[in-house]
Amino acid sequence: MYDLAVIGAGPAGLTAALYAGRFRLNTLILEKVSAGGQIILSSEIENYPGFPGGISTFELIERFKKQIHELGLTIDNSEVCQLQQNSGNFDIITKENSYQAQSVIIASGAKPRRLGVPGEERLTGRGVSYCGTCDGPLFRDKEIMLIGGGDRAVEEAIFLSGYASKVYLVHRRSEFRASAILIEKARNNPKIEPVLESVLEEISGESRVEKVSLKNTKTGAISQIPCSGVFIFVGIEPNTGFLKNILDTDEKGFIITDQQMLTSEKGVFACGDCRSKTLYQVITACAEGAVAADSAHKYLLNR
Ligand code: NAP
Repeated sequence: MYDLAVIGAGPAGLTAALYAGRFRLNTLILEKVSAGGQIILSSEIENYPGFPGGISTFELIERFKKQIHELGLTIDNSEVCQLQQNSGNFDIITKENSYQAQSVIIASGAKPRRLGVPGEERLTGRGVSYCGTCDGPLFRDKEIMLIGGGDRAVEEAIFLSGYASKVYLVHRRSEFRASAILIEKARNNPKIEPVLESVLEEISGESRVEKVSLKNTKTGAISQIPCSGVFIFVGIEPNTGFLKNILDTDEKGFIITDQQMLTSEKGVFACGDCRSKTLYQVITACAEGAVAADSAHKYLLNR
């Protein structure tokens, strides 16, 4: 029986594990794919304090991992399928195994949201992408289109302009919602062409993306733009399906917690991008991971 199971090894889960390790809790860390979470979909992070000029996301995660390894903790690569309450403890069921823990921290993160337009699913991996770092090099000297007006879309437009010959940055409103510093950088980049007040209607191409149809939200006019790639950055959805509704969530499925990261279930805490909140950043994920581990520690002391 573990004292604590941490589900997910992104910045929130790794920080929770770091604090749990320092509390000397017998801690299990489970991660579906590889440590890092959503942050590794970006190449660099510029707003994590202590790294003027930014740091590569790969290096930041390597540093997080090194810190927990120094405490003797390791990450078990397994996907959690179900979490069940069992006489005051918890069964954590993975594809291969079942574990028991007295408390659980859910740090399972989020994934990019799909738009659901015609052609999107069929051409995913054939020009449609949700990850600039993964697929950017495939679009060297090609024209591409990015959809979204938040931090992710604008940041990725700047990054992908390093490969593409032209980047259309399509947003449905008249202004981007991303941080001002990112918007300034994008506006000063000659390869980025903002296309405002427009939405994606359809992605077409026989075996790969060849063109897209955009609709102007003011006039309703449809335009066709030839391009080789479409990157979609229209927000995130939580990785909480495995919980099968055992915890209270908001209408989008993000887990509701109090300020101590306690969920609706005693002994279960949540932190990071799977949590319902207003600011989704690495720094907030880490802070919440620390609070969740502290709360789990106090919960175990009081049992
Ligand atoms: P986001 O901030 O929620 O922005 C999503 C964007 O997609 C918004 O501009 C939204 O338009 C647009 N959108 C949503 N649904 C759409 C639809 N059906 N059709 C067209 N456009 C649609 O999400 P994000 O940029 O993907 O980033 C996810 C989270 O990670 C955010 O909280 C973000 O702050 C954080 N993040 C931070 C950084 C950083 O700090 N460096 C980097 C990356 C991500 P509206 O503006 O009209 O709503």
